[in-house]
Amino acid sequence: MEKILISSCFLGNKVRYDGGDNLLTHTTLTAWKKEQRLVVICPELAGGLTTPRAPAEIRIIGEKIIVKTIMGHDVTHAFEQGANQALLLCQKHNIRYALLKESSPSCGSSSIYNGQFNQQKIPGQGVTTTILRANGIKVFSEKNLAELISELTLS
Ligand code: SF4
Repeated sequence: MEKILISSCFLGNKVRYDGGDNLLTHTTLTAWKKEQRLVVICPELAGGLTTPRAPAEIRIIGEKIIVKTIMGHDVTHAFEQGANQALLLCQKHNIRYALLKESSPSCGSSSIYNGQFNQQKIPGQGVTTTILRANGIKVFSEKNLAELISELTLS
């Protein structure tokens, strides 16, 4: 049975930078959980960061992607480490699909915050999504969960 990588915060785990979660309730998710199809990760914790932690946003400087906290600390390495852990989990479980939280600097798949900490979003994707997609894994968010469900139903 096809497994799905999922953002830990969707399952109600308090792993967000501010100590909160992004609980996502959906009958299909409940069913997948029951069938043990969900492989859970918070890439930022997997990369060595802790909860709570300073909010961080992506800055794109030329070809370079840097992640900095609101205090200006460079946390790019931790984000990359977490992304690599996510990829390893996918490879271990032969995962082809991921459901990750939109707009996160790790998990975002179609938008991210603009790097100015002013609540403005721009088109883009998080560090984990970038690495997963580069390795052929399809990344969905809560906004297109229906699409993921239909892909998995047809596959
Ligand atoms: Fe959720 Fe991803 Fe942020 Fe972890 S890194 S709190 S899983 S959105």
